[in-house]
Amino acid sequence: MQFKEVKGNDTLKERLAAMVDQNRTGHAIMLEEKSGYGALPMAMAFIQYLNCADRHDGDSCGECSSCRRISHLQHPDVHFVFPVNVTAKSGGEKKPVSDTFISIWKELLLKNPYFTEEELNTELGIEDKVGVINVNEAKEILNKMNLRSFEGGNKYMVIWLPERMNTEASNKLLKIVEEPFPGTFFIFITQAPEKVIDTIRSRCLRIQLQPVPMEYQPDVEEYLEPFCSILEAGLSRDLVKALKTAETLAALGRERQKRFCLFCESFLRQIMMSGMNLGEKSAIGRRAATYTGRIPETFFEKGFGLLENARASIESNVNAKMVFTNLANLFWVHLKK
Ligand SMILES: [Zn+2]
Repeated sequence: MQFKEVKGNDTLKERLAAMVDQNRTGHAIMLEEKSGYGALPMAMAFIQYLNCADRHDGDSCGECSSCRRISHLQHPDVHFVFPVNVTAKSGGEKKPVSDTFISIWKELLLKNPYFTEEELNTELGIEDKVGVINVNEAKEILNKMNLRSFEGGNKYMVIWLPERMNTEASNKLLKIVEEPFPGTFFIFITQAPEKVIDTIRSRCLRIQLQPVPMEYQPDVEEYLEPFCSILEAGLSRDLVKALKTAETLAALGRERQKRFCLFCESFLRQIMMSGMNLGEKSAIGRRAATYTGRIPETFFEKGFGLLENARASIESNVNAKMVFTNLANLFWVHLKK
């Protein structure tokens, strides 16, 4: 993946490329994001840039043998670690590690690098458990980073969601992150940096990602109208309309319901930003701008909280009709000037 294929976060791309150009990448970075911000594709573009034989214009060439192997996930020195658990797909393995599922991971990553933890869990067959990064995995990491690199260049260890690492694994890994072997590079991708043990976190260059601009979001069309309808219902004091929209939303699948909530958060943020003349110039940014001045300023914080609660409720399997009726109702209540 080239930087230009990664959605948004343009300033960060320039910063990462400059770090490589000036040879000051260090040996461990931690990309901090929320689900959907695209830290994994960013990590892949970064590794590809680091290895490219013909970098130019702040991007990898996408054509040299290294670029091709990295983008096809066939480079032997790029390793992945992610949370796993025993499932029907672990092939009878009692202590599965990431490599047990590596073909599933690669397939998902090639298909859509913006996948969520839940989407990965579904693919891995983790149903009612959570994935963990355990001590066996930490041993694997040590082994791999200890080996001479296959290609004579750097070795990369991409650790997705280190917040799922248990204490034993963290302790095991600590030393190698503190005193890495030459030519090894760690990229941690976290959605909960506060849950990563401090001793690892403090060894990394920490980098925060920004949300992907709304113009890149594929579901915009599907979610925009229902959300505007909830806003309009609140602004025009039309409770019946609000509740009707809630019913439509209750009929969506769980994954789409969560995406809807995420979409609403970014749209609401757009409205807030355009009030400060910082909105996106895209069509969606202009649509958001139509709400500038109409939504009470005191509402935003409340709105973000309500949307986050709704998403958390959906995630913990609360009845969707109840969640969205409640959401529409509370928007109606709080949008009153
Ligand atoms: Zn290249």
